[in-house]
Amino acid sequence: MSDYQQRYAASLMNTFGPPKLVLTHGQGAHVWDEDGNEYVDFLGGIAVNALGHAHPALVEAVTSQIGKLGHISNFFTSEPQVELAEKLLGLLGSSPGEGKVFFTNSGTEANEAAFKLTRRTGRTHVVVAEGGFHGRTMGALALTSKEAYRAPFEPLPGDVTFVPYGDADALAAAVTDETAAILLEPIQGEAGVVVPPEGYLASARTIADDHGALLWLDEVQSGMGRTGQWFAHTGVTPDVVTVAKGLGGGFPIGACIALGAAGDLLQPGNHGTTFGGNPVACAAALAVIRTIEDDELLEHVTVLGQKLRDGLAADPRVTEVRGEGLLIGLDLSADASAEVVAAAQKAGFILNNPTPKRIRLAPPLVLTVDDANALLAAWPGILDEAGLQ
Ligand SMILES: *Cc1c(COP(=O)(O)O)cnc(C)c1O
Repeated sequence: MSDYQQRYAASLMNTFGPPKLVLTHGQGAHVWDEDGNEYVDFLGGIAVNALGHAHPALVEAVTSQIGKLGHISNFFTSEPQVELAEKLLGLLGSSPGEGKVFFTNSGTEANEAAFKLTRRTGRTHVVVAEGGFHGRTMGALALTSKEAYRAPFEPLPGDVTFVPYGDADALAAAVTDETAAILLEPIQGEAGVVVPPEGYLASARTIADDHGALLWLDEVQSGMGRTGQWFAHTGVTPDVVTVAKGLGGGFPIGACIALGAAGDLLQPGNHGTTFGGNPVACAAALAVIRTIEDDELLEHVTVLGQKLRDGLAADPRVTEVRGEGLLIGLDLSADASAEVVAAAQKAGFILNNPTPKRIRLAPPLVLTVDDANALLAAWPGILDEAGLQ
């Protein structure tokens, strides 16, 4: 254990377990540790570092904005804040006046804002999916099914019904005329990248409409280009979309975006934040979006994601590969995901294991073909080293 790992253990709360490495710097999809070892980062800060590490466009945007105007309160606004709100509405196929944005600093806060927004319908009941993850603050936790996360903190804000993910009949049975909202991830990230059956979100839209409920999609992990499209949901128009992770490319920012009439549910005094909508964070997010557009990264993500999925699935010790673009989940032939992550790290690759059997990849959208080929070449050896048969 290094000096910093020991000092970490003495000074930081043990909420995450011991850190695996002490990282010093990064470039593109590569990071280096304190001993000078290099890794290809296939986790990307958990689907955050859209432009990889130290991308010049992000460095320039943040540096120049903080040199001009670093923070103002929400008694005022700034150009990047308004431009980013307009841009996000545009990416969702909406436009200013037809939707409204509330900026936050994180995914869980985006979901808190959305949760409060749903209460302004006058209803309190929310239907969410089992296996979903929506954050760790009390409201978002109330909407997250995982027992181990919830149990130590109960009672949580109530009136939440959990239904099996991907089962439109179960959803239809749970939603009533008292339901304020249906909340779903278009692809479940923390569950290990679970993709619902075709037509599930369209069914959710119909069920919500039948009962006058809002359809709220949590795109915190799946949104902002990760799937090769700006958002993982296509062909349906939600009432509320929450984003964060990839939005700022590593600068903390999230957003609760409400389309149509839902945009007017939160009124003066209903919600607030000191840092949300900070000009530097908004400038960072604008730089991320513009770079994805200018460098045509959505197309790149689609092609590279398919190549990775095909290559990883070619090994028979991989029993299933799921996902879209560069949000990839795979199942192993045995409960050895921790061993695979450890073997990968030794071989110079950062991977993630959301469950004992599942591996998740969420690399920077700027991952190169060479980076992908390097993992595919090392993959059988990593599975050997992990003891998989
Ligand atoms: C990570 C995540 C969150 C929580 O975001 P934080 O920024 O960690 O608070 C919420 N929803 C989904 C789908 C996520 O993946």
